[in-house]
Amino acid sequence: MDIQQKLKILADAAKYDASCASSGTTARDSRDGKGLGSTAPGMGICHSYAPDGRCISLLKVLLTNACNYDCLYCVNRASSNVPRARFTVKEVVQLTLDFYRRNYIEGLFLSSGIIRSPDYTMEQVVRVARTLREEHRFRGYIHLKTIPEADDALISEAGKYADRLSINIELPEDTSLAKLAPEKDVRAIRRTMGRLRLKLDESSDDKTKKRPRFAPAGQSTQMIVGADAASDQTILATSANLYGSYKLKRVYYSAFSPIPDASRNLPLQAPPLMREHRLYQADWLLRFYGFAIDEIVDPDNPMLPLAIDPKLAWALRHRDRFPLDINHASREDLLRVPGFGRTAVDRIVATRQHTTIRVSDLARLHIPRRKALPFIVLPDHRPPPRQLDDARLIERFAPRPAQLQLGL
Ligand code: SF4
Repeated sequence: MDIQQKLKILADAAKYDASCASSGTTARDSRDGKGLGSTAPGMGICHSYAPDGRCISLLKVLLTNACNYDCLYCVNRASSNVPRARFTVKEVVQLTLDFYRRNYIEGLFLSSGIIRSPDYTMEQVVRVARTLREEHRFRGYIHLKTIPEADDALISEAGKYADRLSINIELPEDTSLAKLAPEKDVRAIRRTMGRLRLKLDESSDDKTKKRPRFAPAGQSTQMIVGADAASDQTILATSANLYGSYKLKRVYYSAFSPIPDASRNLPLQAPPLMREHRLYQADWLLRFYGFAIDEIVDPDNPMLPLAIDPKLAWALRHRDRFPLDINHASREDLLRVPGFGRTAVDRIVATRQHTTIRVSDLARLHIPRRKALPFIVLPDHRPPPRQLDDARLIERFAPRPAQLQLGL
């Protein structure tokens, strides 16, 4: 099989993994002429958008899609009837360098099915990164998937070469993992996440810089949504635990995608993509907007509404807290106004120090008027009486059904 055929199979096999963001690494720059590639000036997500809105691309491949394991939700599982391929270490290195030189990519995302043993697989993955860094002075971004059961020394070495490491938690509940991926050991996954956290802490606490660098962009994970019956409440609680216990940079939510010849234990249909989108929004509210989980989902409402975003849903349930005078409200309260992002809130706080904000200023502050006006007071605007009490207010915001399915 030639390398192009392998690439077709192994890039396609990697597309189900969403955990390839590349934010937060340290800048490595080769403009001094001593190396190849650069993570500066910006970072991003595989064929997707960085938080700063910039699109970057990584070569995202598996070393091999052959796998000893038989995770039911995975197209590469041992019992799957898909064409198999395997790159050599040299081939992945060469592809990365070729694509980089042609400006197709800014880095590499490398994962692998588990062959022979976790240590053998991890060793192959590490060899790719080591060859790129040490033999070719590659300074682009590298994200490596970590095999949970691999030896500690291999994981340390992976962190020496990679910007980011990730281990997929896969499913929000341990019982689902036991049922759908019986060979995976949730304790080993969590133990390795804990080991990564310790190494990351040691590395960031080392002010002397004597320790070898360790994955400066941190660790991340992926959770599949909709392959089991877990509610959004359960998913968000698992994420909160992962962020708290292992200091993850990101939890990625990946809507389950039905695979050929799937087990009867799996749903026949994918969940709406909007569900994945709403989980990302809720995740951000929990991490950056001061919301607690039970303000967003609770036992009576365990699923996020699909029709409106979770902050708007919260605001509509707490109409007594609005309208808010944005020239005087606290930063914490401003963060809870529908349509106000963190940057907009920073701009409001800075602007109101020297001038009074009016309706005509909203566009300059990047605030969507239609969404925000029912919830705010300005010197030249006050929502009409009873508008906030109107049960039909939600209709003003609800997207069309087609948008719900597409995740727009
Ligand atoms: S370990 Fe499981 S999820 Fe990973 S490639 Fe193998 S079958 Fe797929």
